[in-house]
Amino acid sequence: MTYMKQSPELRVIQENMLTGSLAAFGFLGSDTRSLADILRDDDERVTSLALTHEAIAERLQFFYDKGQQSLGQTVATDHFDVVVEEHKGGIPCPFRDNFTAPKAVITVTERNSGQTMTWSALNIHMIRAHGFYEGVGAKFRVEPETVAELLWKENL
Ligand SMILES: [Zn+2]
Repeated sequence: MTYMKQSPELRVIQENMLTGSLAAFGFLGSDTRSLADILRDDDERVTSLALTHEAIAERLQFFYDKGQQSLGQTVATDHFDVVVEEHKGGIPCPFRDNFTAPKAVITVTERNSGQTMTWSALNIHMIRAHGFYEGVGAKFRVEPETVAELLWKENL
């Protein structure tokens, strides 16, 4: 593994993720890499899938929008059952850009295979705006490969 020098700004953001008021959200999971390395490694993985952060965020947003049509209920798309659970309040983006995401959790289940995937509304923003998929071991870690294999089964 190679190490990239981390900017002072990223260092502060990583510190906040680990020890600040956002620490409870566990964005970094058990990942011990620098934030710069996490961002770089996922950027390379997305590129090797011939995808972009924007395309992945768009895909995650598609299912979020579908599920929002009937909050807390199952909404069927062509290949998936989608459930969006939303709670009061919001979660501020740890990248300090004054963005606050609703506390929404999206769960999709492919009806054929039973395979499921879960992400949050904040994941969508962090992927689109920052290329951040959370650390390995994080509760809401999004694996780019899983998105590519599973969610691309739906024709948008
Ligand atoms: Zn942000």
